[in-house]
Amino acid sequence: MTRRGQVDVVVVGGGIVGAACALALAADGLDVVLVEARAPPPWPVVPPDLRVYALAPDSQALLAGLGAWPGTSRNHGAAGVHPYRHMRVWDAGGGGDLAFDADRLGRREFGWITAHGLLVNGLWRALDQGAVSVRCPVRVDALARHGDGVELRLDDGSRVHARIAIGADGAGSTLRTLAGIAVDTHDYGQTGVVAFVATALAHEDTAWQRFLPGGPLALLPCADGASSIVWTLPTDEADAVLALDDATFGRAVTDASAGRLGAVTPLSTRAGFPLRRQLAATCAADRVLLVGDAAHVVHPLAGQGMNIGLRDVLALRDTVAAARSRDAAWDAAPRLARWSRARRSEAAVAAHALEGINRLFSTDAMAPVLLRGSMLGLAGRLPPVAAGLWRRASGL
Ligand SMILES: Cc1cc2nc3c(=O)[nH]c(=O)nc-3n(C[C@H](O)[C@H](O)[C@H](O)COP(=O)(O)OP(=O)(O)OC[C@H]3O[C@@H](n4cnc5c(N)ncnc54)[C@H](O)[C@@H]3O)c2cc1C
Repeated sequence: MTRRGQVDVVVVGGGIVGAACALALAADGLDVVLVEARAPPPWPVVPPDLRVYALAPDSQALLAGLGAWPGTSRNHGAAGVHPYRHMRVWDAGGGGDLAFDADRLGRREFGWITAHGLLVNGLWRALDQGAVSVRCPVRVDALARHGDGVELRLDDGSRVHARIAIGADGAGSTLRTLAGIAVDTHDYGQTGVVAFVATALAHEDTAWQRFLPGGPLALLPCADGASSIVWTLPTDEADAVLALDDATFGRAVTDASAGRLGAVTPLSTRAGFPLRRQLAATCAADRVLLVGDAAHVVHPLAGQGMNIGLRDVLALRDTVAAARSRDAAWDAAPRLARWSRARRSEAAVAAHALEGINRLFSTDAMAPVLLRGSMLGLAGRLPPVAAGLWRRASGL
């Protein structure tokens, strides 16, 4: 800390991306304050948190390196960590199937499925070790910039002075608004319905995804033999699905998955997440940086949102470390601008690619059906194409 009580970094938002960012920068020797509006509920979360993520190997390695990876204990039920080793993608409109197998790419698994609450718990236990100064529950009220830093006013009346502020406060980021960073938002008119389910047939450590005219249905393999569904539907249809009784909902998911895993039975309540594409105009503006959903929101159909957010953190960490190894100013504006351009570019490519796939597959018009049939068939038949697609998604 400097004479004026200025820290190096204040991170706003202690979700998975913000907590990981604060811990990573503190582990690399920066003086970090984390500001979070709500203390996370104690683990196990009751009722269970239905958000489940497919985490790529680079995301897992980051969390493990921070001492925040929950590991594969059997005590966490369906929310526990479970590897996925295969992916099967097929189209309700016919055409080819896409099959990926980790062992054909020389890996034991593609990544791990685990629940939001368990990851948050791991990160907040790591925060308890004290390397980061945590201010919770408080919200950011105001932002002022000075030549060499920022001043945040918090709603408990206190202030934090820092060389940079990082907004990790989610899609509706207050820090982004206070910093005057514009966002481009496109509402898909779709909602992602999520729930834990049991299936009559074993999930075989496979992430299953079927494209339907209304949007894709994914069944992700979870611990305890359970599966987590993410069913993208036009919002009016999603509202109807959310209102079904359990037996009718189970039959609807069985039909939508073409019975691939046999009869489906709900194991939990359901929740719906409105889906949109959102990109901030920049990830760095005058000592304010954005990471995670504060910077970019992408369609969940390839399970990439959290992974891209954690890659913001990995890239920032590399940027800071490279500067410090040369005794250069890690917070120099051109350096942060380069980080921002690279991160925005990756997020924009992912956002538009996923949107293109969603558009191409969420229709039963003849021409797109033929095109996607050939695309899936081609990708499935050419191992280098399949391997390239996966390597890009996995961060390897
Ligand atoms: C249906 C669905 C399925 C998905 N599946 C996957 C998947 O399989 N894999 C994947 O990688 N991604 C997935 N995603 C994307 C993923 O959920 C998001 O990218 C991720 O949750 C973003 O995390 P975050 O930490 O940036 O933001 P958030 O999780 O929104 O965290 C923001 C934090 O900031 C705090 N906060 C907010 N405002 C303030 C304030 N003013 N002051 C202080 N604190 C504040 C909040 O309390 C919260 O803790 C999915 C998304 C959806 C909708």
